[in-house]
Amino acid sequence: MNDGKRRSDLPDVDEKHLLDLLHHNSDWVWEVDAQGRYTWVSGVVHELLGYEPGYVIGRTPFDFMPPGEAERVGAAFSDIVAQQRPFSGLVNRNMRADGQIVVLETSGIPLFNEKGELTGYRGIDRNISNLGERVLQLETIYDTTPVALCMLDLDGRLVMSNKAMNGLLDITQEQASDCFLGRIMPDVWHQFQNDFIRAESGAEILGREIIWRERCYDTQPVALYNASKRVVGLSVTWVDITARREAEQKLASANQVLQQYAQRDHLTGLYNRRYMDECLINEIQQAVDDHFPLSVCLVDIDYFKRYNDNYGHQSGDNCLRAVAKALVSSQLRPEDNVSRYGGEEFLIILPRTDRNGALAIAERLRENITALNLPHVASPTASLTISIGVATLYACQSLPPNIPLHFIASDLIHHADTALYAAKNRGRNQVVAMPETVSTGSVHNAR
Ligand code: GH3
Ligand code: MG
Ligand code: MG
Repeated sequence: MNDGKRRSDLPDVDEKHLLDLLHHNSDWVWEVDAQGRYTWVSGVVHELLGYEPGYVIGRTPFDFMPPGEAERVGAAFSDIVAQQRPFSGLVNRNMRADGQIVVLETSGIPLFNEKGELTGYRGIDRNISNLGERVLQLETIYDTTPVALCMLDLDGRLVMSNKAMNGLLDITQEQASDCFLGRIMPDVWHQFQNDFIRAESGAEILGREIIWRERCYDTQPVALYNASKRVVGLSVTWVDITARREAEQKLASANQVLQQYAQRDHLTGLYNRRYMDECLINEIQQAVDDHFPLSVCLVDIDYFKRYNDNYGHQSGDNCLRAVAKALVSSQLRPEDNVSRYGGEEFLIILPRTDRNGALAIAERLRENITALNLPHVASPTASLTISIGVATLYACQSLPPNIPLHFIASDLIHHADTALYAAKNRGRNQVVAMPETVSTGSVHNAR
């Protein structure tokens, strides 16, 4: 009854008109049997695929697809058939008779017999080549970009991955479809799981660097949402920054070498004066903060001008190296610093050392140089000796407030120089220490 009514609502079409409608419009109408073989096709197939209907009958849609496409679409289609459900918008690439690729969008409904068994499908194909080309181009870009790209669902399954991503994970495209990130990179997957939680709570997802198989990647996850605004996955870009990191490391070590050059005296390899001036300021600050004494030893080679004159400048240089080596090998503590302070002068900073301690160390240094037994015929002792002036900074608590540290430093060096001057005056080859030094700018008398 209803059926009859519906029919009467339809406009009158004769058989010729009906066939005209089927065979001459933009969509190709078809029917396939339960095995997917075409049992009826409208004439539009000739326009779309370049084959006569008679050629198409008995073949399956997969016979017209280029290699690889049949497997891809076949996988999607077998699901549809298994569920015996209608489908729409299935995009697939087909090879025309002239070899050209045509992209079709296929929709269909299942057909059943009286027993309810699936007998086939009926549907239409529409040419979407223009849009399809665009999709193909985007796919190509996605697949061939050197940046690794992937999409993960909430279980960590690799829903999509491009060539670079498969290369990164060392898997084939086939393996990718059954790949769970948690199995390959458990720690990384754990971090992405936290990203899901952050995204769900509306928090920003931050990029991070990931080290994987000795390469460094800058990764940026972006949350994917469904229509109900629920997080359904992550899209992640992986930029290989190994080369950049290596360049940065090289630069850092080059800078370190440069810095060492800037801090070192090239002849002896000891710290230079500029660096030692900085060190002294820092040590004074430390001594002031900790209320500890701080001593310095100013070492000067005796009669060195005569040494040069006698043995030549080159031998003088070698002598400076030998003295430098003997000074640093004099059982100093790691925090003690030895530098070449001037031509044949050396400065030794002794943190947390009082006057007596510094005197003892200075005496040891002097003896060590004498023990080198370097001949010096122009010296009264006939061998190379040094003189040392010692100064100690004490009573830091009673320093005038706001006194600049560099002022205390130059005052301390000045005291050591005065003591050295006294040692020279008293006949050289000896140690003289200034009495307790409080940085008031006054010069104390040597003992
Ligand atoms: P004094 O015992 O009073 O210290 O006498 P001195 O001869 O050691 O002192 P003076 O200041 O008169 O001479 C220092 C000499 O050190 C002069 C200079 O030629 C020498 N000298 C400074 N720097 C270098 C260097 O880098 N290499 C060499 N070979 N000699 C140097
Ligand atoms: Mg000198
Ligand atoms: Mg000298």
